[in-house]
Amino acid sequence: MSNLTILRSYARMTKPENLPPAILFNCSETCLTVFDAFPKAIFHFLVLPRVRPPLSVSELTDLRSLLKCERKTARAVLQDLNDEADSVKKMIQEEMLNRYGFQWQIWVGFHPAPSMEHLHLHVISSDLCSPKLKTKKHYNSFHPKLGFFQHLSDVLSWFDADQSYFEMMSQLRKIDYEPLLKEDLACWKCGRAMRNMPTLKEHLQEEWDGEGRKEKARIARK
Ligand SMILES: [Zn+2]
Ligand SMILES: [Zn+2]
Repeated sequence: MSNLTILRSYARMTKPENLPPAILFNCSETCLTVFDAFPKAIFHFLVLPRVRPPLSVSELTDLRSLLKCERKTARAVLQDLNDEADSVKKMIQEEMLNRYGFQWQIWVGFHPAPSMEHLHLHVISSDLCSPKLKTKKHYNSFHPKLGFFQHLSDVLSWFDADQSYFEMMSQLRKIDYEPLLKEDLACWKCGRAMRNMPTLKEHLQEEWDGEGRKEKARIARK
């Protein structure tokens, strides 16, 4: 099976609980969560809506196709993804404490120009410390303030705005977003400019180590 459609094949399964535990992390009636095959941080999962009526496979291709559906239907799908992401976040937070002795931020959002078919919500820890994070494109696609990564909470807020704003935001044209991936490298946390990927990766590791030291000291003082 090609990488392009593998998520879709999971989302169509009637019994996703039969997926191997190396792939499936969690599953509910409406969604399933899989491990990202190329994790860009210590914790990185994909939450997928399961294909069920009234939604068709093609409507669930990506965020753009979903937002073209009836607004109520689209919102319900995003709400289901949000609920599943909340439980995944709780599991990650427990694991953070158990394994590392502190907790750090987790981001939940979409890529506007995804590389795989079938809508998938990224749930990713903010360390971005992973050997699989190799290119500027990888990094910029998860930078939380650059404008490429679309936080789920922002997408949900479009539904409360007026129709023209909703329509403008839901266009999600690749040409509007792809240039952002080429922006100069800068640390998402302190804003410092970074010369290249090795420098950035080293800096991200230091940021995360520093956060860990501070957090653990704070917990110890309690
Ligand atoms: Zn993706
Ligand atoms: Zn920094």
